Amino acid sequence: MMQSQNNIHIRDIIISGGGPAGMMAALALTDQGHRVTLIGPATDHDDRRTTALMMPAIDFLRSIQTWDSIEPTATALKSMRIIDGTSRLIRSPTVTFHASEIDEHAFGYNIPNAALNKKLSDQVSSIAHIERIYDTVETYTPHSDMVEMQLSGGDIYKSRLLIAADGRNSAARDAADIKTKRWSYPQTAVVFCFSHERSHHFTSTEFHTEDGPFTQVPLQGNRSSLVWVANPALAQELLTMDKDKLARIVCEKMQYMLGSISIDTEPQGWPLSGLVPHQFAAKRTILIGEAAHVFPPIGAQGLNLGTRDVETLIRAVGNDRFDPGSPKVIRAYDRSRRPDILARTGSVDALNRSLLSSMLPAQIARNIGLEALRRVPPLRAFFVREGLRPGSGFAKCLPSFSRKAP
Ligand SMILES: Cc1cc2nc3c(=O)[nH]c(=O)nc-3n(C[C@H](O)[C@H](O)[C@H](O)COP(=O)(O)OP(=O)(O)OC[C@H]3O[C@@H](n4cnc5c(N)ncnc54)[C@H](O)[C@@H]3O)c2cc1C
Repeated sequence: MMQSQNNIHIRDIIISGGGPAGMMAALALTDQGHRVTLIGPATDHDDRRTTALMMPAIDFLRSIQTWDSIEPTATALKSMRIIDGTSRLIRSPTVTFHASEIDEHAFGYNIPNAALNKKLSDQVSSIAHIERIYDTVETYTPHSDMVEMQLSGGDIYKSRLLIAADGRNSAARDAADIKTKRWSYPQTAVVFCFSHERSHHFTSTEFHTEDGPFTQVPLQGNRSSLVWVANPALAQELLTMDKDKLARIVCEKMQYMLGSISIDTEPQGWPLSGLVPHQFAAKRTILIGEAAHVFPPIGAQGLNLGTRDVETLIRAVGNDRFDPGSPKVIRAYDRSRRPDILARTGSVDALNRSLLSSMLPAQIARNIGLEALRRVPPLRAFFVREGLRPGSGFAKCLPSFSRKAP
């Protein structure tokens, strides 16, 4: 179904947004035999964040033949440690999880965003069934049989299915009349990379502080990335601070566990907010990535959830061989994504708020939770499995339940 008439182009599937979620969707759909059009500017080459992707997301990258090119830039996450760095009355015990406890080589891998986006983009360019258009969509108009888009260059595209991968302020989502619940946090994530004297032993350490988490994630060699969630005033101070002074503060905060350090990259600030849509698909439009969920960077969730969006998208599109945007496909996607996204959004929000809260009950609840995780091995294994693959913790604990499940 590819025909052109003046500047009106008719397509089956259009993806709006060329960030990691949009590119992964394009690769996964073409892998299933679809032709897709991917519209959006090139990704930001100056994104200095790194992304921790857990093993199911790595398996997904493998399934779309992307992992082999990314792996040389990635670093295994073999252990994860949570340390209570607050000075509160009730402090939680340190908890360390090892991938070997659940017979895995690693929980996942940490990948610099610039490398991840470059590899995805190279692969997108190499696939003939992906039409890549470096333009932005000005307007989206959903109709009963297609969504019409006007590009800023003037061309008009019509598509039976629109995949909205246009990020947290998705205009495609608004055009589909999908309402959202939005909230903001009094927090900014300051991110940068640093070199250190001692080995990280492939361990990520998350310090819980009164302002939010302070998370070191290993990179290749004696290097790590840091996501320091701070109140906006402190964040502003950190962003303009002399690098030697910043290095000294980071060293102290990390209790010198990596020895002396030096800051390798210019710090960047990312104000934190949350968003959840009331629907995940409507009017021939399916939401993926940050168009479908936004929350603070705790426990590496965002793009991991994005890969699950794409996996669900592939299954949903398989529901109708003739019309990839039919109401049947839209309903299937909305129904399937709802529990996972709502559960993750709720748990990340609750954990973040328990850190910010000076209320004793919130501190006690967090303390009891971490103490139980530290002491009860089956609970630890359950928690780790469930964190990696939703549903797998239950499946392992209750084999008879999983056998009976349809
Ligand atoms: C500090 C921080 C650390 C994080 N760490 C992790 C982590 O360790 N692990 C993890 O899984 N997640 C992490 N995340 C979350 C992760 O970064 C996001 O989930 C991910 O970047 C979202 O990708 P996306 O493609 O949905 O959105 P984006 O990367 O925002 O891409 C949206 C794209 O849409 C394009 N666009 C917008 N409007 C239009 C239009 N009108 N027409 C065409 N194109 C348009 C934009 O140009 C952009 O390229 C972190 C987030 C933050 C803030």
